Amino acid sequence: MTRRTKIVATLGPASSDEATLERLIQAGVNVVRLNFSHGSAQDHIDRANLVRSTADKLGVPVAIMVDLQGPKIRVGRFANNKVTLSNGQPFILDADCELGDDTRVGLDYKELPQDVDSGAVLLLDDGRIVLVVEKVDGNEIHTRVKVGGVLSNNKGINQQGGGLSAPALTAKDIDDIKVAALLEADYLAVSFPKSSADLYMARTLVHAAGCQARIIAKVERCEAIANLEDLIESSDGIMVARGDLAVEVGDAAVPALQKRMIRLARERNKLTITATQMMESMITSPVPTRAEVSDVANAVLDGTDAVMLSAETAAGQYPVETVEAMARVCLEAETSSDYQLERAFLNREFTRVDQSIAMAALFTANHLQVKALVALTQTGSTALWMSRVNCGVPIYALTPEISTYRRLALYRDVFPILLPMASDQKKLLLAAERKLLERGQVSLGDVLVATVGDSVGLMGSTNTLKIIKAGEGH
Ligand code: PGA
Ligand code: MN
Repeated sequence: MTRRTKIVATLGPASSDEATLERLIQAGVNVVRLNFSHGSAQDHIDRANLVRSTADKLGVPVAIMVDLQGPKIRVGRFANNKVTLSNGQPFILDADCELGDDTRVGLDYKELPQDVDSGAVLLLDDGRIVLVVEKVDGNEIHTRVKVGGVLSNNKGINQQGGGLSAPALTAKDIDDIKVAALLEADYLAVSFPKSSADLYMARTLVHAAGCQARIIAKVERCEAIANLEDLIESSDGIMVARGDLAVEVGDAAVPALQKRMIRLARERNKLTITATQMMESMITSPVPTRAEVSDVANAVLDGTDAVMLSAETAAGQYPVETVEAMARVCLEAETSSDYQLERAFLNREFTRVDQSIAMAALFTANHLQVKALVALTQTGSTALWMSRVNCGVPIYALTPEISTYRRLALYRDVFPILLPMASDQKKLLLAAERKLLERGQVSLGDVLVATVGDSVGLMGSTNTLKIIKAGEGH
């Protein structure tokens, strides 16, 4: 059984040794996420090297996604590392405060007082603590505690309804893009983008650093929802970043937004990652809750490319068990009759020759008893287009490009295979067929639908659809 939905796992202290990483990849991790909110550049470079060598050793494609910290707004530190806030007490967020106590705390984003007004609701520590702004006095935000609790150093602050003006790329992010280039990241996740301008800037910096990484926009701000189509259009994919998003838009709005985001992204040939708290209880428990199982299965039914693990694999007690559980839930969800196959795609618009070939391959696969779609691809575009439609037939993407091979690890329904370039189309098709037979992915006599270009090795040149019976020569 081959799992079609991909798994993204965040690496951290619980998962950075070679043995654990090997077990994680064997358990089904397709993409590793390096979270640049924590750790030094050197930590990330070391982890990336280990991922590359382990993936090579196991002979499987694993993509690396660098996740930038972005302008997460945080409180400063406390003299005693934490305080307990009680309901109804006054509390000041003070841009000039050095070390906090139970009356006030500092801010890492000094402009916050200019961004909030009285009546605003501020959510700290992912919404665990709620403050209502009473007045802003210079660099001080005077609030009253609506929901109290323990507040410790450097916890995040969100404003309900959004509206904070920090730019999406900080000085640290700009430096971190250079690190992403150094470790040859396959994906770069941009945190808290508000509009296409933020993504355009990220892309420009990525190119300037000589980096090939594709851009993932994390949708986690109110403004991002308002500009959703724009954001999808200007990225290569989006992350349904439910942690911050739930705080900004209200948790109850998130499930419907997730469905809408995945649908819009697929229609526009973009990738999607569904993230945060998917298997949260497995940080400390060897089995998931019923609700978590449903959440992962529903993301699969929504059509996400990948489901993501954060603290579960970065800092949890059961990183390998979590990936195994997630893989098992995805597999089963994929066999559900509610996992709708799309047999017609009259709603799709395409003008390019290579894109029409990809659609024609899907059409054929739906009507003949086809065992596999075979995309001989340079950049992966044909595999991307095919994978935006649920056709129920696995897509084997054979490419000579190592960067394409790794990048395709994220695409739902796509199984990347490295295949050296051949001198002509006929030889290339024969080599592809042999490779699939050898790996047991198809059997003698199976019908395959292949797409290929006649200018072999040229990007965007796919212009041929070929129907092959495996092992019968052609
Ligand atoms: P984070 O992003 O884990 O970097 O905060 C994901 C989210 O907000 O859900
Ligand atoms: Mn976030």
